[in-house]
Amino acid sequence: MPTYKVAIVGAGPAGYFTAQAFQKAQSENLLFSIDMIERLPTPWGLVRSGVAPDHPKIKTVSKVFEKIAKEERFRLFANVELGKDISLKDLREQYDAVVLATGAARGRKLGIAGEDLTNSLSAADFVPWYNSHPDYVQTEVDLSCDTAVVIGAGNVAMDVARILAIDPVELDPTDVADHALVKLKESKIRTVIICGRRGPEHAAFTAPELRDLPKLENTDVYIDEKQIADAIERVELLGEVEKDLKNNIEAMKLIAEHSKKGVARKLEIKFLSAPLQIKGDQKVEEVVFAINKVENGKVVPTGEKFSIKAGLVITAIGYDSVEYSGVKIENGRIENIAGHVEHNVYTTGWAKRGPTGVIGTNKSDSNDVVDLIIENLKDPKESEGITALLKSGHEVIDQLGWEKINASEVISGEIAGKPRVKEVDWKRLISLGRS
Ligand code: NAP
Repeated sequence: MPTYKVAIVGAGPAGYFTAQAFQKAQSENLLFSIDMIERLPTPWGLVRSGVAPDHPKIKTVSKVFEKIAKEERFRLFANVELGKDISLKDLREQYDAVVLATGAARGRKLGIAGEDLTNSLSAADFVPWYNSHPDYVQTEVDLSCDTAVVIGAGNVAMDVARILAIDPVELDPTDVADHALVKLKESKIRTVIICGRRGPEHAAFTAPELRDLPKLENTDVYIDEKQIADAIERVELLGEVEKDLKNNIEAMKLIAEHSKKGVARKLEIKFLSAPLQIKGDQKVEEVVFAINKVENGKVVPTGEKFSIKAGLVITAIGYDSVEYSGVKIENGRIENIAGHVEHNVYTTGWAKRGPTGVIGTNKSDSNDVVDLIIENLKDPKESEGITALLKSGHEVIDQLGWEKINASEVISGEIAGKPRVKEVDWKRLISLGRS
């Protein structure tokens, strides 16, 4: 019975859904032995280091990942870095197919003056900081100002703004990083302003996330009613309106009209505000915006400007894939045609399509890539797989090792009244996972 060896690089949602697609495609005449390779000592990718701590429901997908990992012929090789511990060339030779599910970890830049001032940072550095990613514990963020500006009108901007704007005691029962919780409790920030460069009808937020905002207990959320009324007028002129857009606009209208509690913590969403410059002497002090308008369906500058005095700026304007030896990046993604990179190398998830879609989007994406791989399979290779590639003595965290880390974090969480307390130190993670 032919058994094909496949290597999946990246243990995030796209990687796991690829493994699941291989598992589901198996039959009496077709088996897959799956090696999942992960740079960090822990799997789950953005479900661990991206999803907001106050959104635990989204993280329950990890149960699906653990089920996939329990299937026969699935092995985890965490703490193994492509380009450092193993090369793509070697993987290609040892495996029948290699799938790069390496995501998009680098935050896009605005390219405006002042972007590199102290306390101007990317969500790509801020989100993993509050989510205990071992590489981002040292992210420097100063929360001693009154006002923070978040640039971008997508769900990452909303996550970041919410984390900054809510009363940090609401994060006590979550798995937010301890180091972040301490800083958030000392935070002087009381006003967080999300700025989108286009109109409400163009926002990339999704309705369920918007609908959660008025439910915040200790934060008032503001959207200018006029901006929403104007957007509704423009949208009505379009005739038939997509369901997602209709839901989004309705959710924003509710926020705009929702009665305010009169509390000190404020989260505002401003539209048609395009960042022009971040001003400050060494450190962020003010953000200057061009005021845009929508004219004949197009977003154009009005020629007017305004500015916000703020001590912290976080840009959440999308991500690019990180380059590593052997892959070409084009427009922030691994260069590919429908997931095919070259020879027996494929890509999926954000590395393939860019940073779009929710976790579930990776499922259909990975199914398509696996179908393509199966179409292109030749005779299975006779090879040793990853064991032939790693230097002797390299400490791999395998599934059992990860389960030890997981159990230890969950037990620490039980004591602290949280779902888990994530270990942030790379060396301690390895020692916890030592099998
Ligand atoms: P996104 O949804 O693509 O939003 C990016 C935002 O940045 C857009 O509003 C975009 O505006 C803006 N932007 C881009 N370049 C800009 C510039 N130069 N100046 C000002 N604004 C700029 O990206 P994301 O928020 O990073 O989210 C990535 C994906 O993860 C999305 O699919 C998102 O839904 C998903 N996600 C989901 C959840 C959840 O389900 N709870 C949570 C987090 C993330 P334009 O539209 O004008 O380009």
